[in-house]
Amino acid sequence: MKIQIQRKLLLAAALTVALGFTPVSWALPKIKVLATGGTIAGAQATQADAGYKSGTFSVDDLIKAVPQLTNIAVMSGEQVANIGSQTMNHEVWLKLAARVNEVLKSDDVDGVVITHGTDTMEETGYFLSLVVKSDKPVVLVGSMRPATAISADGPINLYNAVALAGNAEARGRGPLVVLNDTVHYAREAQKMHSTRMDTFSSPNRGIAAMMNTGKTFFYSANTVRHTTKSEFSVDGLTVANLPRVEVVYSYANLGGDIIDVLVEKGVKGIVLAGVGDGNSTDAAIAALEKAAKKGVAVVRCSRTGSGVVDRNVEVNDDKLGFIAGMELNAQKARILLMLSLTKTSDTHKLQEYFNQY
Ligand code: ASP
Repeated sequence: MKIQIQRKLLLAAALTVALGFTPVSWALPKIKVLATGGTIAGAQATQADAGYKSGTFSVDDLIKAVPQLTNIAVMSGEQVANIGSQTMNHEVWLKLAARVNEVLKSDDVDGVVITHGTDTMEETGYFLSLVVKSDKPVVLVGSMRPATAISADGPINLYNAVALAGNAEARGRGPLVVLNDTVHYAREAQKMHSTRMDTFSSPNRGIAAMMNTGKTFFYSANTVRHTTKSEFSVDGLTVANLPRVEVVYSYANLGGDIIDVLVEKGVKGIVLAGVGDGNSTDAAIAALEKAAKKGVAVVRCSRTGSGVVDRNVEVNDDKLGFIAGMELNAQKARILLMLSLTKTSDTHKLQEYFNQY
């Protein structure tokens, strides 16, 4: 990457001498930052304050705070939202996805960087994996420490994200998540620590790449269906017509009544964050079976944080009418189920989606 940039800079310098102007747009990738908030845009109220507020700084503040960005990219920015990602919602997802698709159509954008809180970054990233219609790089970035903290990690993370979004090798891989010098495929990424900078892991398939001050070393390919190979799209989707899917967390002594209430409320799908291999109490399984018989799509996942929940191992999915969540954690399974239910309610077809995405 560094070599590529240096070559481009040399070419630009030569052309500047020959033509008398700097063809900036030939020399550097054009990167658009779509800002949504999060700790990366967060600030402490005062130096003495221990806490901080996500989504305080604007996209222009973020770009200006890292002047080195202009050495590696032609930067532009746009504020899509400015929220803590704990309050991320379907409205912002639909707006963001539409905007990503729109800007990536333009020749003036080679890649997109999305600044985002880390709490739900994996969900937004997975949603985009399913609905972005471009091979150009889409990189989600955040930080674990606000800009006003000692050793804030936002600036280096943003620098890495911009370098990655401008790297031709990042094309066609689906949305990527970068923090702490580590790149994850959004589908694999999982926040696994409440405060540490190495909070993200890719527990099932491993990381995508490592970075060192903008230079990227790719380790693995993304072999799962995404972006241009995905059947899903946000065209025609609204907050109102996205099927309602909720998650039920399993634990010792879980009863069935929470599940009954969800069915009464009219949910179209329930994802079980099950114990172990996607399992639950007899009462919960019975309530889920009843839900499935009423036409509610029931997907079994694991609360353990890794592994594959396959069909018919300890739970008889064929008999109960359930879908196995395979490699997805419950929060990502909820997203795939919502989008899948816009296409079909057939359990076999839904299982195929979970096998492929
Ligand atoms: N609560 C913050 C957020 O997700 C945490 C972070 O960004 O790290 O917006």
